Amino acid sequence: MEIITTRKALKETLDQHRRSGRSVGIVPTMGALHAGHISLVERALAGNDVVVCTIFVNPTQFNDPNDLERYPRPIENDKKMLAKTACHILFLPDADEMYPEGEPAWNLDLEGLDTVLEGAHRPGHYQGVTQVVYKLLSAGMPCTAYFGQKDYQQFRVLAHMVDVKKMEVNLVRCAIVREPDGLAMSSRNVHLSPGEHERALVLSRTLSWLQQHYTERDALSEARAMIERTPGVELDYLEIVDGNRMEPVSPLK
Ligand code: AMP
Repeated sequence: MEIITTRKALKETLDQHRRSGRSVGIVPTMGALHAGHISLVERALAGNDVVVCTIFVNPTQFNDPNDLERYPRPIENDKKMLAKTACHILFLPDADEMYPEGEPAWNLDLEGLDTVLEGAHRPGHYQGVTQVVYKLLSAGMPCTAYFGQKDYQQFRVLAHMVDVKKMEVNLVRCAIVREPDGLAMSSRNVHLSPGEHERALVLSRTLSWLQQHYTERDALSEARAMIERTPGVELDYLEIVDGNRMEPVSPLK
């Protein structure tokens, strides 16, 4: 596996592949890879001649400095996992490479998609996400880029960005990979104690219950209560929204 650390070198390498008629797939990540990330890489490998996985823990999308500091960074293990998956290129830039001094501030009009749901609880998060993904995809396009449905709002926001910025990027939304007990895989799960892991299962249980019952009266408030009555679990939000504008809808029959 080739390791590239600058945007310029990535662009040159990929341009060369494209000149030889090869298609390019990109999987942006923050590392601490797990089977969810690897499923994206495998999907990219199935659909493209050359696959790049990017690993960059992007500071501008963290609004909690403690979360940024604690974010796991097991880079040697990540390299091994990617090599084993036969990923062709790892793009591994540092912060100076992604954010050179004196760059203009980033402010993309996301038409409110960035201020609801997760965005309401993490101000600036989606501005940071679009800022870094814009840079990554600009170095890689034309390409197909793979993202997980676990972060549905992120996918929606990125689709909006690709559209308004007229980027030559085809976006693919990939299924959520879960632990055998139902917990969605996440790099942050390493922070959970066995007891916390157990309590977190209320999320997948509640979502699958809601999937069966969402057209019934009071299903949403019942689902919220299921989460709220779990000791040690605090609910930020649970809403039923339309998948395009991310606005609450009433699915009552
Ligand atoms: P992250 O490293 O958490 O920023 O995630 C990088 C990409 O992997 C994003 O597109 C995520 O949506 C995706 N991803 C993270 N966890 C999972 C999962 N459990 N299943 C599928 N995709 C995932």
